[in-house]
Amino acid sequence: MDTPVTTARTDLGTVSTQPVYNSLHARTAAGLVRRIEPLGQPAQYELRTGDNRHHIVCRRCGATEDVDCVTGAAPCLIPSDNHGFREEEAEVTFRGTCPRCERIRNEKEQHNGNER
Ligand SMILES: [Zn+2]
Repeated sequence: MDTPVTTARTDLGTVSTQPVYNSLHARTAAGLVRRIEPLGQPAQYELRTGDNRHHIVCRRCGATEDVDCVTGAAPCLIPSDNHGFREEEAEVTFRGTCPRCERIRNEKEQHNGNER
């Protein structure tokens, strides 16, 4: 997933970043785009909104994939204490190692094992 500024630069040539983010903020507030913020990664925006779904993020390379909600109805998770809020959606970020990084890790382990 590209960041919005990268995408805007690709589409428009050189752009100032602030108007891009101002526009995205307004669209996020209006529910037209969805902001996701993987830990330690720049915020990402996507057009798929209005459905309840999660993400899985690779700790090593930051690769992000969608994980569809298992119940199909929002919110698909019930908080133990909602503090009086009306829940509208739930978002879970699963973290782990993507297949590519896992393969690299296994190859390195095999390589290190052969040297001993
Ligand atoms: Zn990875």
